[in-house]
Amino acid sequence: MRRPLIAGNWKMNGTRDSVSALIDGLLVGAVDVARAEMVVCPPAVFIAEAAARLDGGPIALGAQDLSEHAAGAYTGEVAGPMLADYGCRFVIIGHSERRAFHGEDNALVARKMTAAQAVGLTPIACVGETLEERESGATEAVIGRQIDALLDGPGVGALADAVVAYEPVWAIGTGLTATPDQAQAVHAFIRNRISARDATVAAGLRILYGGSVKGANAPELFTMDDIDGGLIGGAALDANEFLTICRAT
Ligand code: PEP
Repeated sequence: MRRPLIAGNWKMNGTRDSVSALIDGLLVGAVDVARAEMVVCPPAVFIAEAAARLDGGPIALGAQDLSEHAAGAYTGEVAGPMLADYGCRFVIIGHSERRAFHGEDNALVARKMTAAQAVGLTPIACVGETLEERESGATEAVIGRQIDALLDGPGVGALADAVVAYEPVWAIGTGLTATPDQAQAVHAFIRNRISARDATVAAGLRILYGGSVKGANAPELFTMDDIDGGLIGGAALDANEFLTICRAT
């Protein structure tokens, strides 16, 4: 049985005050969200504050990215050991915004998975196709390559301690959501691809859907067989909306 996971990606938003208020709001409501595992991923600069507020509570802490390197002359980067030091348990890797705006490719995402797991962080590895790729019928080819990079690099065993997030690029922050059937089809494709290497790992892997998930559309998405929760962007900045999504699992 895969425990649903709801992760909030706060992206580059917030102030010290708003982050504190958001966490306090989430903590008040989190008590009755027994079924879902909850994670929030604040901007790196707020991780210390978030760690102090979340400490020992029901919501886990995650980061939005990490360096492939553990330390050294990499100006502006944040290393996995630093995140682990602050009690992060999860880290998003390969988000489409990192791929599009920072030139991250499949090989780098695979190396980041290894860097995360080296310090005990659970990577949330994002995959997804652009609208152009979907409309040209290339969705499975694109996602197949993204998944194969993880299977060929870190290896299928690494996916036993990881989470995959299917995030169609055309649905992120656009208000467009994949229909439950569209999302389920890609989730099943991902699970089958991994199952061809190791059926046990594939059966236990949590695959999240991300792309304009809200309280209103979450219940339908989460009833699909291969959708094990969500990676939430915009709606994660509102405590009530995020909690409503968590309760939909
Ligand atoms: C995301 O950034 O991972 C995301 C899914 O964003 P949104 O929910 O705003 O589409």
